Amino acid sequence: MAGAVIASTDSGYDQARRSYNALIDRRPAAIVRCRLAGDVAVALDFARSEGLEVAVRGGGHNPAGHCMVADGLVIDLSLMRSVEVDHEARIAYAEGGATWLNFDAATQAFGLVTPGGVVGTTGVAGLTFGGGIGHLTAQHGLTCDHLLGAEVVTPDGSIVRASADEDSELLWGLRGGGGNFGVATRLEFRLFPLERVLGGRLIYTGRHVGEALRRYRDLVAASPRDLSCGALLSVDESLEPILIVSPCYTGASADPQELKELRSAPGLIDDGLRVHSFIAQQHVFNPPYGEERCYWKGHFVRELADELIDELLGRMVALGRPPGQLLIESLHGAAKDNDSSLGAVGFRGAAFNLSAMAGWMDPTDDEDHIEWARETAAAIAPWSASGAGYVNYMQADEPIERVRAAFGDETFERLRTLKGRYDPENVLRRNQNIPPHPAEPGVPAQEATS
Ligand SMILES: Cc1cc2nc3c(=O)[nH]c(=O)nc-3n(C[C@H](O)[C@H](O)[C@H](O)COP(=O)(O)OP(=O)(O)OC[C@H]3O[C@@H](n4cnc5c(N)ncnc54)[C@H](O)[C@@H]3O)c2cc1C
Repeated sequence: MAGAVIASTDSGYDQARRSYNALIDRRPAAIVRCRLAGDVAVALDFARSEGLEVAVRGGGHNPAGHCMVADGLVIDLSLMRSVEVDHEARIAYAEGGATWLNFDAATQAFGLVTPGGVVGTTGVAGLTFGGGIGHLTAQHGLTCDHLLGAEVVTPDGSIVRASADEDSELLWGLRGGGGNFGVATRLEFRLFPLERVLGGRLIYTGRHVGEALRRYRDLVAASPRDLSCGALLSVDESLEPILIVSPCYTGASADPQELKELRSAPGLIDDGLRVHSFIAQQHVFNPPYGEERCYWKGHFVRELADELIDELLGRMVALGRPPGQLLIESLHGAAKDNDSSLGAVGFRGAAFNLSAMAGWMDPTDDEDHIEWARETAAAIAPWSASGAGYVNYMQADEPIERVRAAFGDETFERLRTLKGRYDPENVLRRNQNIPPHPAEPGVPAQEATS
């Protein structure tokens, strides 16, 4: 192998087994730091011959802790983070372990961008394979919409290519179907010119937060596609609500009407909007890595009704102490331009993604916070678009019905067939799992999908 193997007796083992979610504390048998696609194939081979369960680690951000497996083998891609840019063709080539920090630094050197996630340390591949919602969703759609191709090491150790010409069905599956089909070692993305944005954060507190949230809702519903806008609801220690709205405007106006309305909403205590680089916008949220215990659960919703806003405000004080945050992501604009023929992702029709993100430090609070997130998701459920949340935010205990609902029956069955061709033994099951349909006898995976 060109890379390195870290065993439990090696220094650095505890650092290497950390993930974003401090609730996850697993001790793998070994962590394989791959450098090449061939290393990934060797690791998969070794895991098979030793009967070891496999986990794949990109940025280590998945809140379910899918990147770690107790007593198994972790295929760690953190040495595979380079990103090359063909600025004339406007295409970026990212290695399988690249994060958005790596990606944005490389593409912004040429004034180019693809719509990615809002936290730099998140893995590009992991985020893309679940869809990808961020600061440019209204302008350019989901991250997976711009995935043009990938090099993938399948569980049997073969190296295959997914693209419109080479295996369009695999490419379709990678656009939303998660890390179910293989380990991606190289991904290709379409790029767009963009250097500066009008963005940052607006912070509201106190009794007017409900009104500010309604204004946010009305505004994004009617918003042009040059304005993406997310929101984050929380409470301070005295249970006063706090709303953070994070617009990202890329239009021509120096003072767009939509932002004027947000800036004049009641309860505003901090106006941090400014023209800055896209890289600066990508640093608007920088949560610490691996310190908090987390449990996330939510729903894509049809609308953000007044009653639902009241419900959400009530849920923020229900625990009697700060429970964490509630993330509100709008799906207006370009996310709606495509449908399930482009990729497996199944949530485009929703208006918003609402996620209860319980976060805490003390292990004795585990049960209370987990229960808070579950009850909050249950309170949102009457407005649910499909009965499911975002696969990228799901915990490992989500029932298969919720995973199925995230895609819809037809897409889920199509994904199961694809899984049956590439991973009939379900080697890659540390993810929001697609159980394989039995493969067609005697037909190799590549032929079966071409
Ligand atoms: C703080 C934070 C911020 C986030 N922000 C956003 C956001 O703005 N937008 C958004 O859409 N999502 C966001 N997410 C969710 C995130 O996209 C998913 O959790 C994603 O799975 C993380 O990918 P990762 O590589 O960092 O995680 P990991 O835990 O390393 O990987 C998760 C899983 O992804 C798969 N995977 C990763 N890399 C590969 C690969 N190269 N080949 C095959 N499979 C692979 C594997 O199944 C792996 O188990 C955020 C999560 C956190 C914790």
